[in-house]
Amino acid sequence: MQTRIKVPLEEFPEDGLVLHGEADGALFDIDNTGARSVSPLGYELEAKLYDTELLVSGSVYATFRMRCDRCLEEFDYEVEIDDLALSFDTKGKFEVDITEELREEVLLELPGYPKCEISGLKCKINDIIGDFRLDKDPQSGVESPAPSGQSVWDALDQFPSK
Ligand SMILES: [Zn+2]
Repeated sequence: MQTRIKVPLEEFPEDGLVLHGEADGALFDIDNTGARSVSPLGYELEAKLYDTELLVSGSVYATFRMRCDRCLEEFDYEVEIDDLALSFDTKGKFEVDITEELREEVLLELPGYPKCEISGLKCKINDIIGDFRLDKDPQSGVESPAPSGQSVWDALDQFPSK
């Protein structure tokens, strides 16, 4: 699988060049940052040449395995950018290597504090905190009736007479 994405400039079609395919996810080279690449970098791009400027627009996508900051479970996170727009200087070049720019755009989309929720998953830690906060036993609540059938307010009413 290709590891570089290059746009050839020779005999560049006037109405633009369509680029689509996949590049090896190894190009992300981020295995020691808490996220690792588990898919190729997919791209569907259109390149247009204006004088000495190459404009590349379209979409890129890739999937990463991340570790949740709270429960430490691993989960997959998909980055998808649909409105990519990059510009490259073509002066004196026969082709433009756009790999590094695409790589950066995708990596910028990775969350700094990964949590299960960003991939729509339920975090185990949230479940535990949720259970703790929720009053699962209404008997222990202030508003619940006392075991005798009287409310706590009844009990307070009786207090002055004693
Ligand atoms: Zn989690």
